[in-house]
Amino acid sequence: MTPILELKNIHYSYHTLDGETKALSDISFSLAKGEFTAVVGPSGCGKSTLLSLIDGLFRPESGELLLGGESLTENSEKIGYMLQHDHLFEWRTIYRNILLGAEITGRLTPEIKQRASRMLEQYGLKQFARSKPSELSGGMRQRAALIRTLLLEPELLLLDEPFSALDYQTRLTVSDDIGQIIRRTGKTALLVTHDLSEAVSLSDRVIVLTKRPATIARIVPITFSIENDTPLNRRNAPEFKTYFNELWKELNHDEQTNEGTP
Ligand code: ADP
Repeated sequence: MTPILELKNIHYSYHTLDGETKALSDISFSLAKGEFTAVVGPSGCGKSTLLSLIDGLFRPESGELLLGGESLTENSEKIGYMLQHDHLFEWRTIYRNILLGAEITGRLTPEIKQRASRMLEQYGLKQFARSKPSELSGGMRQRAALIRTLLLEPELLLLDEPFSALDYQTRLTVSDDIGQIIRRTGKTALLVTHDLSEAVSLSDRVIVLTKRPATIARIVPITFSIENDTPLNRRNAPEFKTYFNELWKELNHDEQTNEGTP
């Protein structure tokens, strides 16, 4: 089966007046349909650059990016984004915020509106349809942001530190909630995070990047043998600590081997 996303030997450098900064070096991986993959790596290693390339904002210096088997040359409607901040507009109701993406992309059909209402009901936000974003909790706002993204039926979800603006307790419940919704909808997701616990609790696979220029240090498959495999339940399972330590060691190994490098 054709992977949803395929990266083949991707290289990328920034060019500024001060010179060239190599951000990504020889990155190759693919995402199968329905797979949830996390990307972790030291701060400044190139994680956001990777997302910008996948989103079609930047073009690779060399290498190939395929979405559904076709070369990805520009921003694709098949890709949905969830960011650190929910970007809900206070001057719009929750319902109208959810419709915003459809409106901007000229897809505001009666069917889409019906789907929006159905999703608000399905995800427990029906009673807030006419509320302003400020009337909702942080978790509900992230739910609304997810509905806005899912409404356009993306084939791939890019999640860029989507929970890092939330306090620790809220983050646990919201990532559990959002993670379960993404699983239920069978979406393929790529999560960029600096939080190893979040990566282990949510994903099927964790891609560990090295320091800049980012290369793939390791890809760690994550499987839990628990009955009710949810992000919160994973955190209490015995395997959790093992995976966490493995990833921690991999990241710190990178720190140590690069020590003293200019
Ligand atoms: P991360 O998301 O992992 O923190 P980024 O992808 O934002 O890292 O950046 C990777 C590296 O690329 C940074 O260390 C920085 O030096 C460089 N970089 C990022 N954006 C620019 C830019 N606009 N111009 C020049 N260099 C940049």
